[in-house]
Amino acid sequence: MTLTIPFDNTYAALPDGFYSKLPPQPVKAPELVAFNEDLARVLGVSPGEAEEMAGVFGGNHVPEGAEPLAQLYSGHQFGTYNPQLGDGRAILLGETVGTDGKRRDIQLKGSGRTPYSRNGDGRAWLGPVLREYVVSEAMHALGIPTTRALAAVETGETVWREGGMPGAVLTRVASSHLRVGTFQIFAARGDKHSLRQLTDYAIARHYPGADGPMGLLRAVRDAQSELIAAWMAVGFIHGVMNTDNFSISGETIDYGPCAFMDVYHPHTVFSSIDRGRRYAYANQPTIAVWNLAQLATALIQQLEDPEAGVEEATEIVHAMPQLTEAAWLTRFRAKLGISSAQEGDLELVTSLLGLMAENQSDFTNTFRALADGTVRDQFTDPAAFDGWAEGWQARLESELDPPAVMRAANPAFIPRNHRIEEMIAAAVAGDYALFHRLNAVLAAPYEDQPEHMELQRPPLPEEVVQATFCGT
Ligand code: AMP
Ligand code: MG
Repeated sequence: MTLTIPFDNTYAALPDGFYSKLPPQPVKAPELVAFNEDLARVLGVSPGEAEEMAGVFGGNHVPEGAEPLAQLYSGHQFGTYNPQLGDGRAILLGETVGTDGKRRDIQLKGSGRTPYSRNGDGRAWLGPVLREYVVSEAMHALGIPTTRALAAVETGETVWREGGMPGAVLTRVASSHLRVGTFQIFAARGDKHSLRQLTDYAIARHYPGADGPMGLLRAVRDAQSELIAAWMAVGFIHGVMNTDNFSISGETIDYGPCAFMDVYHPHTVFSSIDRGRRYAYANQPTIAVWNLAQLATALIQQLEDPEAGVEEATEIVHAMPQLTEAAWLTRFRAKLGISSAQEGDLELVTSLLGLMAENQSDFTNTFRALADGTVRDQFTDPAAFDGWAEGWQARLESELDPPAVMRAANPAFIPRNHRIEEMIAAAVAGDYALFHRLNAVLAAPYEDQPEHMELQRPPLPEEVVQATFCGT
């Protein structure tokens, strides 16, 4: 068997100013530690021997048909504009059109220095690579738009972080790597021509029906509103919603310091670098609007007279909070077993969330337990839940099959932080059993898997992960 990837590249055909063409930097002793056969099938990739795949996905061998390049972009990081970012440790190999007819990027992350590396080493260590592998695949199985993981390779090299860590490369798959920051860099330079080319490219690739820059803005707004609502519904905290990590396709991208909440609290933050708590759980819908406003600002720069676009762009951005809230409410209704819409539903949801915050309820297990009658145990004061449940039961009377609706909306399994940390520690010591087990269990998150109940358990006090670190 020989690895074949049916590349069909379009980004590499854009003008030079959009990227730097260069191959990934070779590594010492690449070893394939994970390969996603299901995803390979969707991509139309036929696998080869492990050694060959390690060479390709470790960056030592550029496969036939690839046109490797590092993409250029800029972005706001924690609210401050950085005029030049770009792929500092990633190389886009190219695109394939999958068996489902969808075009996707295949990118190596941790593949060495590029012209955009600034002070970085261009590398990644095994921890963040495996974290992204597990969490992005879990996200996919939860039914939430996301980049995916095709392969992970250990490089046989040491990467220096807090200390020496095993190096690794992740092969990331995305609908595209276009982000708000891709538009910002040309807007900031006043390069209307490139901005127009990029807009046409993004529309053709993601939203063929969209009408011009404002149509694109509307489409991104709609996709991102749905995405943020989906995150909120599973207790996901992205952690670094900078505009360079805000995708045009509406996929979750950049699993750096992300985490799923255990105990529910709206102000939860995990990221060690988010000192201002900008990207706290409950702030995500607001930050998404802020990011969309940056896209709007960038997009109107391509108009002959940008001022003329301000009114329409403002209107589009201002509609986002309502759209996100509507999508949010639909999802949280389903979490309560409700498929129809009634006055008072919002209050029903928010009052439960308020009680959960007061009672230190586990976010995932509380919602999952709603359907099986054990939910009172999730509250330090079960009587408080009983009071709420009276109104809820009354509301369910007019609903068809609440248990089925709840089970489809409330996962039993999420990638809990303490398990991710445990998995990374084991893998660093050469034991990949938990990595494979997590992938297998998280592939069916809405199914009861009694033999894996241990993975539903919230962390013990000594297991609680206090901070997560950017994927460096
Ligand atoms: P991120 O925090 O992953 O969104 O990355 C922000 C920017 O820093 C991007 O331009 C990355 O390519 C760059 N970057 C992050 N880590 C490294 C690294 N180890 N070496 C080079 N560039 C990096
Ligand atoms: Mg990023």
